[in-house]
Amino acid sequence: MKITGNVYTVGGSSDSHPSDAAIYLIVSGDSAALVDAGTGQGTERVLRNIEKAGVRPADVRYCFVTHCHYDHTGGLEGLRKKTGCLVVAHELDARYLEEGDSEVTAARWYGTYMEPTKIDIKVADPRQTFTVGDLTVDFIHAPGHSPGSSVLTMLSEGKTVLFGQDVHGPLDDTLRSVRGDYVKSLEFLLSLDADILCEGHFGVYVGKEKVRRFIESFL
Ligand SMILES: [Zn+2]
Ligand SMILES: [Zn+2]
Repeated sequence: MKITGNVYTVGGSSDSHPSDAAIYLIVSGDSAALVDAGTGQGTERVLRNIEKAGVRPADVRYCFVTHCHYDHTGGLEGLRKKTGCLVVAHELDARYLEEGDSEVTAARWYGTYMEPTKIDIKVADPRQTFTVGDLTVDFIHAPGHSPGSSVLTMLSEGKTVLFGQDVHGPLDDTLRSVRGDYVKSLEFLLSLDADILCEGHFGVYVGKEKVRRFIESFL
């Protein structure tokens, strides 16, 4: 599904596997990047959807990980192997992926375990900027749902696109959620005044008003 000229949905519960959180593709010229990787059970479908968007899997340069949870990360190894992409995650969540922590990554909730997964680029700063073709993509730490939860923002066709994958939470002690951080992060997301929100489980919200109302509903 095309969201803008630079953004496609290539995975999710109805696009790749019922357990997958949404997977988005950012495209500019010959360069592309993924946002999250699903559980891995639908990787072949994700790859087909990338090709349907007119992108060669080998042109996927990065996979940005919004947070460590299994429904967003179980597919990282498979996608890295098939595309050669570099996996990017905030350092506070990278450790749970590299250790293969099945509790904090919520793999146990899915009745499975987390395969230890190497993170190629660990973001330590509150904000790190990446280039995908002509696009500038900001990777911004927005903790609460998990310690290293992060969002991505970019401008596409004059519109601010926000990839905020688990805006809705939930908050849970086994996930190392922190309510105060979560509230602060939601307030930060509101301040971005985004035109389009690409969410992990609730789909895509288009229009500043709809985006604002969705985020506010969790405050
Ligand atoms: Zn999550
Ligand atoms: Zn999720």
